[in-house]
Amino acid sequence: MARAQTGIDDVLYRLVIQEDGCIVWPGSLKADGYGVTHLNGRYPVRVHRAVYEHLRGPLPKGKVLHHTCKNRACANPEHLVPMTVVENIRADHPDLWGKYQREKTHCLKGHEFTPENTYIHPNGTRHCKPCQLIRARDSKRRKKAREVADGSRNRR
Ligand SMILES: [Zn+2]
Ligand SMILES: [Zn+2]
Repeated sequence: MARAQTGIDDVLYRLVIQEDGCIVWPGSLKADGYGVTHLNGRYPVRVHRAVYEHLRGPLPKGKVLHHTCKNRACANPEHLVPMTVVENIRADHPDLWGKYQREKTHCLKGHEFTPENTYIHPNGTRHCKPCQLIRARDSKRRKKAREVADGSRNRR
């Protein structure tokens, strides 16, 4: 039996404008709090994203929508800001982000963060000095290799 298909216009029609300015989805919500619906009978989409893209155009690649109102069921484009995933986590959990940065004990390459080999950026992120040295050495080595290659070409 064919079900009536839900188009973006039906989604916009069903949204409920609240007194606080949020425009929320009265239908089903995912466990994480985002409104979800089957658009045009296809795979489920997140309501806030579908509404945002319908009104404001496609989201840039690699970006997610951050809710400035913290209400994940809200699809008011005024409350949605495209961000990278990292920016979004940082915006939602400023404490967690600081805690994560403080409690990291090793860099991605496994160097221990000690006071001597750690550079702390003003934004609170920590950078591994051994890794920075390795990167600098590698780029110097690549430059040298290029010069040798150029030199041997010149001799011929
Ligand atoms: Zn809102
Ligand atoms: Zn390192």
